Amino acid sequence: MSNEELMGVEQVLRSKEPENVSSELVQRAGERLGYPAEVITQLIQPDQVLIFRLPVEIFGKVISPYGCIVLHNNARGPYKGGIRMANDVDVWETSELARLMSLKTAIAGIEFGGGKSGIRVDMDALYRLFGVKERNLEFECIIKRAIIAKYATLHRELLRSLTYVPAPDMGTGGPEMAVISSITGAPASVTGKPEGINGWLAGRREATGYGVATAVLETLAYLGIPANQAKVAIQGFGNVGSYAGLYLAEQGVKIIGVVDIFGGVQDPEGLDVPALFKYVGQHGTVKGFNSQPLTNEELFKLPVDVLVPAAGGHVLNKETSPGVNAKAVVSAANMPATPEGMAILEEKQVYIFPDIVANCGGVVASYLEYATSLSAKPAKQEEVLEFVGERIKASFRGFNKIATDEKISPTEAAIQLAVQRIYEAMKLRGQLNNQSFDLGKLK
Ligand code: NAD
Repeated sequence: MSNEELMGVEQVLRSKEPENVSSELVQRAGERLGYPAEVITQLIQPDQVLIFRLPVEIFGKVISPYGCIVLHNNARGPYKGGIRMANDVDVWETSELARLMSLKTAIAGIEFGGGKSGIRVDMDALYRLFGVKERNLEFECIIKRAIIAKYATLHRELLRSLTYVPAPDMGTGGPEMAVISSITGAPASVTGKPEGINGWLAGRREATGYGVATAVLETLAYLGIPANQAKVAIQGFGNVGSYAGLYLAEQGVKIIGVVDIFGGVQDPEGLDVPALFKYVGQHGTVKGFNSQPLTNEELFKLPVDVLVPAAGGHVLNKETSPGVNAKAVVSAANMPATPEGMAILEEKQVYIFPDIVANCGGVVASYLEYATSLSAKPAKQEEVLEFVGERIKASFRGFNKIATDEKISPTEAAIQLAVQRIYEAMKLRGQLNNQSFDLGKLK
């Protein structure tokens, strides 16, 4: 590929960013807002890309996985975003996830920017290398903690200076964040710290699900459906889906169907969600709970007011979307609808509550974790959840007004509001390409 076809960071990497939904949405929002092309490129592309090797000695053998940190944008606050450890991460995936974090923190109205880390670790290959025959969580934990310790040591200054504040993502969790906190010696340098580590936050675990429940209640109110008459179906009953279900049931919403990766259950009169929550705690799945079984395919077709995909991405696609029988979809998972799936749902006039707002409860709570870590003043769980609810309601009002005024989809409107906020902050800092100043006005 010739260098002329590549732009900005792509020229340095000599590789074109693969097509992706978030770049496309930022591009369209920038064009609607009338921003120059070079500024839109700045909004899409990252500020910095760091690529590094992490040689570690484990059980007498050296392994050296590669990793990367993408710092997308910090005009509104420190770069914020989780550390993903998986066998397929790459720079472009990490870059897209970092961009999504900038958009999410901006639309949530919290003073963070966006970043992300990816560490490429093939756990299956390590099982073979060390001759471990069966799945062993302790083995995985030792490996992850050793790799994260090297990562935190290598990037100690970046983390200690609170330039980039990581958190858990796929493949990492509380124990790894505790390691980072120990190495930096700065509790605010990382969020998602487990209970008992100074600066941990009560309510962090429940926050994303609580935020999704708030988004569902806002959607119901917008559609004029009283909560105590509403029916909801949830795909995925893990951290997000289960707490969303619990909080919705508390408000009188009937959860009539739930599926997870092993199976599903349904009750047209509404499932006993607290009992289901307890059952999943004991059995690790909703399958076998005392009610009628339900498959994934059937869940999408249930006649509900709101469908909540809270499992993986791309589940609402050209195969599944035509069968959807809901008035609204509240996107709890990241990117649950493909572009084709979204077009089909919009055609059917299904209201789609965007993922970057619906699932921002976790990062909003992280903001409070960061703030309490800095001040050493603990926050109560009720305060955390109240703050999450407020941020989601304010974002909903913000993007819904733009969607109505400009006759664009809620997703386009949410991205537009986020892009506008990042642009304004970059302008105030004097970071926009070709920006010129009217010096007379700068007194
Ligand atoms: P989790 O691992 O705790 O739970 C995932 C649930 O989805 C489980 O019940 C699992 O059985 C189910 N599932 C997986 N594959 C499935 C399939 N093919 N069919 C049906 N069910 C399936 O994960 P989580 O933390 O609850 O996250 C759920 C989604 O929300 C993910 O897409 C995640 O990226 C997104 N998200 C999570 C957070 C957070 O704070 N946890 C924040 C933002 C976004």
